[in-house]
Amino acid sequence: MSKLKYQTLTGMHDILPDDFIYFNRVLRAVESVARYYGFSRIETPVLEFAEVFAKGTGAGTDIVEKEMYTFRTKGGDLVALRPEYTPVIMRSYLEHGMHNLPQPVKLWYQGPCFRHERPQAGRYRQFNQFGFEVLGEQKASVDGQIIQMSYGVMKELGFKNITIEVNSIGDSECRPYFKKILTSYFKSRRSALCPDCQRRLKENPLRILDCKEEKCQRVKAGAPQIIDHLCENCHKHFKNVLEFLDELELPYSLNPYLVRGLDYYTKTVFEIVENSEDGKTQGTLMGGGRYDGLSKILGGRDVPACGVAGGMERIMNVLKTKGILRAEKPESKKAQEQKQEDAKIFLAQLGEMAKRKSMKLFEEFRAAKIPIAESFSKDSLKAQLRSADKMGAKWVLIFGQKEALEDFITLRDMETGAQKEIKLDKVVEEMREKLNSIKK
Ligand code: ATP
Ligand code: MG
Repeated sequence: MSKLKYQTLTGMHDILPDDFIYFNRVLRAVESVARYYGFSRIETPVLEFAEVFAKGTGAGTDIVEKEMYTFRTKGGDLVALRPEYTPVIMRSYLEHGMHNLPQPVKLWYQGPCFRHERPQAGRYRQFNQFGFEVLGEQKASVDGQIIQMSYGVMKELGFKNITIEVNSIGDSECRPYFKKILTSYFKSRRSALCPDCQRRLKENPLRILDCKEEKCQRVKAGAPQIIDHLCENCHKHFKNVLEFLDELELPYSLNPYLVRGLDYYTKTVFEIVENSEDGKTQGTLMGGGRYDGLSKILGGRDVPACGVAGGMERIMNVLKTKGILRAEKPESKKAQEQKQEDAKIFLAQLGEMAKRKSMKLFEEFRAAKIPIAESFSKDSLKAQLRSADKMGAKWVLIFGQKEALEDFITLRDMETGAQKEIKLDKVVEEMREKLNSIKK
């Protein structure tokens, strides 16, 4: 096959009608969990000042350093396509004075994010994230609730084989000291690290723990663990979070090397993976944690916060390959059938003028919220009546040339074959009465 001239950009993809079975299922699960826990939806622009991420996500992160789509606008602003939501949600919270609302403020979102990554399974350059964020509350119960909600979405979608990996990465009190210990550990094994990590050793040794290279993973296995070095406050908080998870009977496991790739996290971090082969190929499905320092980094007041983000496509891919939702009808077919099920009336037309006028009539039915089927693409009356018959329409409105000229319509009862004429401006009203009479 010859290559088409225009295709989606590398790493980008269309979400086709049949993909929406999966997309909508994930979205519905997210929405129902969000509603149950009292979260309100928020959406923000796809474009932000690049600095929101350079500061918020962190200048040394992969996202900002390598993956962000950044450009200068005609007006001279340095902007970026959002690679993630969390700093943006905080930006919005601060900008709109949401600290004046009763705290905490609980928000959820869903929309596209952009990262210029090397495309591979579950890794796209435009993908959809959803997430839950709780702002203005420092209690460990919030961390517990965020993890519970994340697990809840997975459960709602029918996943059975889920693990939650949890860790605490401390805060500004205990982390600097731990970084020193970690640095000296890695320094003595420098040559065994990948070139990227040799550089990370100078900038942020924690990030080495997040490296996906095999050789670094081996070095990592013997590294000191931050949970042994948490300050009293962080230790207590983490203990509390784990107590909540125990109470909720969530299947979590401690991963002392989990750090996550973002700068703003403090204390709790967690990730959710599906354990089958398909699940593992997709990587982390959801990840999150506490980010008590983010607000101040963005120039705001002190706002403790905690949240999670999930990847729609990764979850959709696992649902697809595991066949969890395979029994459902394709969305395209469903839309067609739905329309046919709802409509008891079929609008048939013959001739150019009738077609134009019947399109207008169709809009009048829509405004009156009366479902009506049509076949504007067909010209032969016979073919249209066949369609009407096939979908089981009770009545057909026939709009021919004579009708169009004299502003009336012919109504045919499909069961009895009886026909009658109705003035055009009375059609909607009369059909509503007919529908009401069969409802009774
Ligand atoms: P990874 O370690 O796999 O690169 P991440 O830590 O960069 O993930 P986050 O920034 O935490 O991911 O984003 C939250 C979720 O968004 C991830 O758990 C994943 O499901 C999804 N996600 C992240 N990057 C991509 C991508 N390039 N394509 C599709 N989904 C993604
Ligand atoms: Mg990443």
